[in-house]
Amino acid sequence: MLDIQKIRADFPILSEKVNGKPLVYFDNGATSQKPQIVIDAIAKYYQEINANIHRGVHTLSQLATDAYEISRVKIQHHINAKFSHEVLFTSGTTFGINLVANGFASILKPGDEVIVSSLEHHSNIVPWQMLCEKTGATLKVIPINENGELILESFDALLSEKTKIVTVNHISNALGIVNPIKYIIEKAHAVGAAVLIDGAQAVPHLKPDVQDLDCDFYAFSGHKMCGPTGTGILYGKEEWLNKLPPYQGGGEMIKEVTFEKTTYADLPHKFEAGTPNIAGGIVLGTAVDYLNNIGFDNIQKQEEALLAHATKRLLEIEGLKIYGTGKNKASVVSFNIDGIHPYDIGTIIDKLGIAVRTGHHCAQPIMNFFCIPGTIRASFSFYNTIEEIDTMVEAVKKAKTMLS
Ligand code: PMP
Repeated sequence: MLDIQKIRADFPILSEKVNGKPLVYFDNGATSQKPQIVIDAIAKYYQEINANIHRGVHTLSQLATDAYEISRVKIQHHINAKFSHEVLFTSGTTFGINLVANGFASILKPGDEVIVSSLEHHSNIVPWQMLCEKTGATLKVIPINENGELILESFDALLSEKTKIVTVNHISNALGIVNPIKYIIEKAHAVGAAVLIDGAQAVPHLKPDVQDLDCDFYAFSGHKMCGPTGTGILYGKEEWLNKLPPYQGGGEMIKEVTFEKTTYADLPHKFEAGTPNIAGGIVLGTAVDYLNNIGFDNIQKQEEALLAHATKRLLEIEGLKIYGTGKNKASVVSFNIDGIHPYDIGTIIDKLGIAVRTGHHCAQPIMNFFCIPGTIRASFSFYNTIEEIDTMVEAVKKAKTMLS
């Protein structure tokens, strides 16, 4: 069992007050809080080894380069990638997805098809729409059922030799549904399509094994897993990364430049133009260590208890409806109360120190499916407590009375 109070002491912000009340932070789906060890590691980098990487012969540059590359290897092991050069540092999930979508512009032809799902975040929809516009390919969408689960028979029916890439999230940010990505990857590969997994909402809760999944790409953000903002990883299979063209041109990503012709650097540098977020990349490794020290089994146990308690307690409220009632769920509860706008509930409970997200969660197609303007989303992390959930439930009841 985790000692939650001890863990909470690692996160200075959790003892802050908001609007005069102890902060109850349930917006972990948007971004996680940061433990002191991560905050300190950022300062330590700037105080002790700040230098540009991969360039200087001087000592600091070597130290910074080593720390950056050690972090890459740490993340390689964390996600079980075969090679460290399959691990690209990015600024986040959005960047990773755009990198792949941009690369596929050189592969797709009119008539080809791209499959996304109805559960996607806008950042896993729009880049593919832009790609289809550019190439004349067609976007196909896997529908969902009333529980917010992908309809797999429809997915099977969409697949054909025209399918060139399938791109779905591991866990839905708006509903918390965990998608059957192994099934999706297997089926997509059977027709020769590549698969990108948007792991933004998965990495705070689990340790993805990219070799076991056999996905071609796996994108995620550091800031949702206790790491710094502006950090992220795109995993890509070596053969795919070799096949795709560079995303951005500049320093670092070249072998030789003449005005006649430029040749590109080997992986991973081919995709890492310019000076990266060096401190961020290094400290993402610190965050990964922190999570692994807690242990993902422990994280999952605590989050399952939080999800079960929140679901049970919230459903005691008359007129409250939870969206995303599928069996396989991460610690996210997305809900509404009959006749009350989610924004109004969010505003009132904020005054009571409770941070939830209200709105469409950058997933408007899901809201359109349920014919709602948005939801109230409480997303829990391992550092949240059962008592905090009770505080939220009481606050939601109060808000409901005020607004009814
Ligand atoms: N995909 C999903 C499922 C997400 O939840 C998010 C962030 N809310 C993103 C992609 C985009 O991540 P970022 O803004 O860190 O690039």
